[in-house]
Amino acid sequence: MRTIELRGDRALTNEDLERKGALPESVMESAKAIVDDVRERGDEALRAYCTKFDGACPEDFRVDDEVVRGALDMVDPEFVSALRRAYDQIRDFHEREVEQSWFSAKPDGTILGVKVTPVPSVAVYVPGGRAQYPSTVLMDTIPAKVAGVGRVIMLTPPQRDGSLSAYTLAAAAVAGVDEVYAVGGAQAIAAAAYGTESIPKVVKIVGPGNAYVAAAKRYVSGDVGIDMVAGPSEVCVLADSTADPVVVAADLMAQAEHDPMATCYLVTCDPALPARVEEATERLVSQSPREEITRASLEHGVVVVAEDLERAVDAVNVVAPEHLELHTANAFDVLGSIENAGAIFVGPWSSEPLGDYVAGPNHTLPTGGTAAFSNPLGVYDFVKRSSVISYSPAGLAADAPAAQTLAQGEGLWAHALSVGLRRRLVEEGAERF
Ligand code: NAD
Repeated sequence: MRTIELRGDRALTNEDLERKGALPESVMESAKAIVDDVRERGDEALRAYCTKFDGACPEDFRVDDEVVRGALDMVDPEFVSALRRAYDQIRDFHEREVEQSWFSAKPDGTILGVKVTPVPSVAVYVPGGRAQYPSTVLMDTIPAKVAGVGRVIMLTPPQRDGSLSAYTLAAAAVAGVDEVYAVGGAQAIAAAAYGTESIPKVVKIVGPGNAYVAAAKRYVSGDVGIDMVAGPSEVCVLADSTADPVVVAADLMAQAEHDPMATCYLVTCDPALPARVEEATERLVSQSPREEITRASLEHGVVVVAEDLERAVDAVNVVAPEHLELHTANAFDVLGSIENAGAIFVGPWSSEPLGDYVAGPNHTLPTGGTAAFSNPLGVYDFVKRSSVISYSPAGLAADAPAAQTLAQGEGLWAHALSVGLRRRLVEEGAERF
């Protein structure tokens, strides 16, 4: 890991971080070509890319509902219980995010409000190229269902024999996915964005994926809603001298083992801690079956040593990490000063993988510093808000002069007319027209 020492008033900058994860131009170009082709040729193009990239193309992209439900009997019952525990806790958390429509009447009888409407259809992309992600199925489907989305389809690449992992299918059955399609990559994103003979067009596409999936989501956004363009995963551990170096090492490695591109940050006000964490990491990493990936990721990790906790917190707010762990004496005292982080794990017992799987909050989080201005995936991502405006005659009479003046100031004659006609009717005593 690279060390940045913040001496005196030196503050951390974005340039110091040399963030990884921008989508390469070549990947954007490949994704665009695939999307355009699927948009034009539909299933024929889907089949060609599926065979080329996944090594097999299923006869029918739609996975039979019986096969989805049957997966529950094919996996270990303990795995199903774990899925159900996670489901209950994720659902309970997301039910608290539900936003009600609201209406408010002013004394003059005018009614203002917000009507909340779920989007009618969503595609949940579940990565499946190199690993299986049943937890992603739960995290992306549950908030959509809680929001009231009527049709949730799932897209995930087939394995080499054309089938899907029983673990992923079992998660789809528990989460209540409506339809499962064995198709992945940029071609799946194109299919959901524009529709093909066998894949329905949806209104919004969510879920993580590799660079081709992210590039395709960015390309189709605007024609269809997307949640976010997620980059490689990150963790930031903020630690003082009370932190346990072995636990900190394990937590950094838990992120590093995801992906060689995953980024680990250790921000501390204890100058002795980094060496103790490094020593513990060195001891543990050789025991990991994912040693190579873990080492590759840790290689480009960043250690920030600040002169005091306050400056360390400022540095964390510049990192704006996807996951933040607070390993400090009074972690809840620090929480108030944290402005930018996707998910904050407070105190020594709050292992980040608990949040990945079962705690309840969503694990689809903003990456690459975007936590400075965006949110975890939530129920709010699956609804639209419409403003509601209903004037009474008295309300119209009260607001009309200001509206007419502003319309005239903008030189918009018909705007002033639309208000003025009604104003005259009210002044003439009309109750309705
Ligand atoms: P994936 O499903 O995202 O991608 C596999 C697909 O990529 C293939 O089906 C193929 O169509 C396409 N592809 C592969 N090579 C290609 C090429 N040369 N040209 C065009 N298309 C190509 O699965 P993956 O590759 O295993 O990646 C999963 C990613 O998702 C990882 O980076 C992982 O870290 C991330 N992830 C993130 C989260 C999260 O919540 N942030 C959760 C799970 C996974």
